[in-house]
Amino acid sequence: MARRKKIYEGKAKILYEGPEPGTIVQYFKDDATAFNAEKRDVIEGKGVLNNRLSEFFMTGLNSVGVPTHFIRRLNMREQLVRSCEIIPLEIIVRNYAAGSLSKRLGIEEGTQLPRPIVEYCFKDDALGDPLVTEEHIAAFGWATQQDMDDVLSLALRVNDFMSGVMLAVGIRLVDFKIEIGRVYDGDFQRLVIADEISPDSCRLWDIETGQKLDKDVFRRDLGSLTDAYSEVARRLGVLPKNSATVSKPTLIN
Ligand code: C5P
Repeated sequence: MARRKKIYEGKAKILYEGPEPGTIVQYFKDDATAFNAEKRDVIEGKGVLNNRLSEFFMTGLNSVGVPTHFIRRLNMREQLVRSCEIIPLEIIVRNYAAGSLSKRLGIEEGTQLPRPIVEYCFKDDALGDPLVTEEHIAAFGWATQQDMDDVLSLALRVNDFMSGVMLAVGIRLVDFKIEIGRVYDGDFQRLVIADEISPDSCRLWDIETGQKLDKDVFRRDLGSLTDAYSEVARRLGVLPKNSATVSKPTLIN
């Protein structure tokens, strides 16, 4: 059997050339990193959970008309996605103050924001993904004004969808990060949600207890990351309800 071609290896995923032109296979690793990879560990089962959770969110977004790169899940750790040209921005949407916003502006974590706040960071690990404004984005040609209008509207639609889905299972969507890519259909370009949406890239707090069910558990040494992600998956119906699964998740289908 021919060895498939690795396109890129990132901190949490490996990308391989897909079976058809214009497709890519995303492989979810168990590696966890934080603080620009200064803190790292291997957390057994994390990749399996994120593959399944990202499938859940992307499929849901597709079904409400928010285009994503997701085609289908292939197996426990891999999914087939459309290849796209990633806009070099991390798009962050915040509903409650936390993390770098709390630090930067001195606002207590958990404070509800007057409205969702969208921020852009330039995707560059060596620079630590610095916060940028639309002036930088336009001046350096990272995206056009039309792209940015579409990016803002997509980010807010993802926020509405994700907030609702999480609220229904007793979880507050505090903030999240997405990446957006360009796909070309003939002469036309459209934007799609790319990369992944998972507890690695969101802040998710239990509404009743405030318990953190996201990567902050790893960043801040708050306990078992797979317990937290399994809890999110279990509430969303991605893991069997009675599953006490932690380190080795058993998935439905
Ligand atoms: O650290 P900060 O508060 O800016 O993070 C905001 C949100 O974006 C968090 O949900 C975090 O998990 C996510 N994020 C990410 N990847 C980064 C930076 C932030 O997924 N490189």
